[in-house]
Amino acid sequence: MHTLLQAVRRSQRLLVLFALMVLLPVVIFAVLVVRASRSERARVEYEKTQRQRQVVQFVETELQTWLFAPGPDSVAREALVRFEVQGDQVVFPDFGLSRSVGDSPPLRPANPAPPSGPLTAALVAEHYFPRIQAFRRDLGAGRHTGIQYFRQLRALVVQPPGGARGYVVDIETVLARANATLAGLAAGEAFTASAWMAADRAARPPAGSFSLERFPFLEILFEDAPRTSWLELRGQAFPYSMGLLVLVTVLGSVFVYRALAADARLARLRNDFVAAVSHEFRSPLSSILALAERLERVRDPDKLHEYHRIIGQDARRLSALVTRLLDFALMEEGRQIYARERLDLVATTRDAIASCQHVARPERIRLLGDQAAPLWIDGDPTALQHAIQNVIENAAKYSPPDSTIEVECARQNGGHLIEVRDRGIGIPREEQTRIFEKFYRGRHVAGMNVQGVGIGLALVRHVIEGHGGTIAVESEPGAGSRFVLRLPGRDA
Ligand code: ADP
Repeated sequence: MHTLLQAVRRSQRLLVLFALMVLLPVVIFAVLVVRASRSERARVEYEKTQRQRQVVQFVETELQTWLFAPGPDSVAREALVRFEVQGDQVVFPDFGLSRSVGDSPPLRPANPAPPSGPLTAALVAEHYFPRIQAFRRDLGAGRHTGIQYFRQLRALVVQPPGGARGYVVDIETVLARANATLAGLAAGEAFTASAWMAADRAARPPAGSFSLERFPFLEILFEDAPRTSWLELRGQAFPYSMGLLVLVTVLGSVFVYRALAADARLARLRNDFVAAVSHEFRSPLSSILALAERLERVRDPDKLHEYHRIIGQDARRLSALVTRLLDFALMEEGRQIYARERLDLVATTRDAIASCQHVARPERIRLLGDQAAPLWIDGDPTALQHAIQNVIENAAKYSPPDSTIEVECARQNGGHLIEVRDRGIGIPREEQTRIFEKFYRGRHVAGMNVQGVGIGLALVRHVIEGHGGTIAVESEPGAGSRFVLRLPGRDA
């Protein structure tokens, strides 16, 4: 009870230590990581917006230069119509046309759509001249600074300040120019960019769009670039690596905790083992010593015979225990190599039963099955005999002294099996796999005064598995247990 309380206290302390040393830092670390990754995302978002503003400014300047500055890359070469203002005349040199600006422009051109087919002087006069008149009027009134968009005509009228020359440019040409520039600027960025005619849109501009200050009819729409896995990885590298770090820390600490807990458990079991072994030695030794002292004075032959029998039984118990400890030591060192001889399992089982007399009267154990038919296997006779003996001894230890133990040898599916059945205390379901662990003693036997050190079944399993076999248990607490050892057979 005392040691149990100590163990509980120890593991509680271990848990608190674990919480303080590992869980707390992990939680703090995880909170920091979440916060850091949030501000990292905000930073990335801010940088993206800044970059987009730069792109917008660059496009604006580029368009402005293209439309206004004379030079080889100027819009002049791509213009639909070129004109020159001379006094109160607008001259169209490519069409041999000249018109007086002073003529008041019609409120609406007769045909507002852009003309189709090749341009003629008549078409220019009908479609473009009225817009140029309106343009000049608005320029004079300061409503624009030399660029005006005519939505229905789908064209810009441009006249660089201070100059006499002007142009009419198809809006598609402007858009194509802006989009080509945008494509170059957005390459490698986390966004794509495209130019739209804001003036053509009835609906509100979509989110993520920027209007150009000097070209209010034009709008640039930014969208997130379809992420390639590389880009995504690069963008998310920080949160991913932090997440991975937390995961590794948590897994590592769970692993360390489990190893610590397993170590502590093993140390506890080992202590119990040493106590149990000492106890196992002490009781037969005390009995032998006491009887040896009395022997000198005893003259009654019946008593002498009885003492002789008890001393022999205790000595055999001690010898069996020493053998088991030595086998266990060999198994622990990994040096236990089993001999391979042709042997009959029925005969080995019979020998094992005969060696169990120190724990059970011979009439308690019944050997069933066809004993005339040998069951041949290749194996180590001593190790197998000890293993079978161990299971039978357990059956005897953990059942009432007058109950029967049945041992049956049989052939099954090309292999052989030995079954040991008792009508004893049984084993709770949750302990049925643990009883094969070394040093493990059932909790259900703790209160009983049954001797044992908890290495028997671990040894049995080692021997049986070392022979390519298996061991299984079926048990019902209060009703009894059934241990089945299966071993591969050999042909006669
Ligand atoms: P022990 O020296 O304690 O008998 P073993 O390794 O032989 O060690 O057995 C481990 C545990 O398995 C025992 O402590 C006991 O709780 C349980 N056990 C083994 N055989 C039986 C059985 N026939 N009936 C009930 N419990 C058993």
